Amino acid sequence: MRTVTKVEELRAACDGARRAGLSVGLVPTMGFLHEGHRSLMQAAGRADDFVVVTIFVNPLQFGPNEDLAAYPRDLDHDAEVAESEGVAVLFVPGVTEMYPDPPRTTVHVDGLTDGLCGAARPTHFDGVTTVVAKLFAIVGPSRAYFGRKDAQQLAVVTRMARDLNLPVEVVGCPLVREADGVAMSSRNAYLDAEDRTAARVLSRALGAAADAVEAGERDAATLRAGIRSAIGEVDRVGLEYVEVGDAVDLEPVGTITGPVLIALAAQVGKARLIDNVGVTFRPDGTAHVDRGIAASTIGTVSVPSGSLPDPLPSESETPCAAG
Ligand code: AMP
Repeated sequence: MRTVTKVEELRAACDGARRAGLSVGLVPTMGFLHEGHRSLMQAAGRADDFVVVTIFVNPLQFGPNEDLAAYPRDLDHDAEVAESEGVAVLFVPGVTEMYPDPPRTTVHVDGLTDGLCGAARPTHFDGVTTVVAKLFAIVGPSRAYFGRKDAQQLAVVTRMARDLNLPVEVVGCPLVREADGVAMSSRNAYLDAEDRTAARVLSRALGAAADAVEAGERDAATLRAGIRSAIGEVDRVGLEYVEVGDAVDLEPVGTITGPVLIALAAQVGKARLIDNVGVTFRPDGTAHVDRGIAASTIGTVSVPSGSLPDPLPSESETPCAAG
């Protein structure tokens, strides 16, 4: 694995890979890598010959009172993780490398960025789409891999690629959970032991909503109220929002009639955490809820990309699925 810090070095490496007939896969991250990130690298390694992982804590996507300076970092560990997953190039640019001048050009995806996390973080998604567009332009990937943990981000980036005819397939990958159901996140590092226990209520409440949907509940207000009340019982957890939105345009729905996302954000101690489950429908009309997968099913690859193991197990193995 090569670690590079300069845009031109990364561009040259990707140009070389494409000239050699290799497909390039991109996994953008902010580092402090965990099994959620590993699962993206493994998905990339299965489909693409030359996997690029980027680590950049992008100032443009943080608001003035957010955790930019405190965001956890551990480059040595991250390099070990990426290397063990068969990553070809790890790109770790500094802020001035990515933004030599304050950008006068940004990317804004209308509508999809207004609700959910966009309500409390009004500039966040413009920061995300701008840096992702830059990474697409530098790397030229055939495919780029994003986790369904950040479901709104995935919807926004997918829409950007479609609206701008970007020559890249945006691939959504399963949400990876800890053994107790908590969604993996670099920000879990902010939680003390009691916060960490309290955080379980988020996936538990979503799991109960998932059970209700599978049992036939279709009323969004009822589902939201159930989640709100479960979370309200835990002192350390402050719910920011819970929403049931259309899976593609994220517009809130009153009654579930098609694919939706049940998503929430909450403050737990010093961490702002997000979580979600996705509802789809089988041809026979019954609901299927994607609750994510367990981190224990991810494992370590430790071989070069191109010869990776079988696809991840199905969602049914998630701890959240067990309630
Ligand atoms: P981050 O480093 O948090 O910006 O995340 C980088 C990428 O990893 C994004 O596409 C995230 O959606 C994805 N990711 C982060 N946590 C998880 C998780 N628990 N499961 C699946 N993907 C994740």
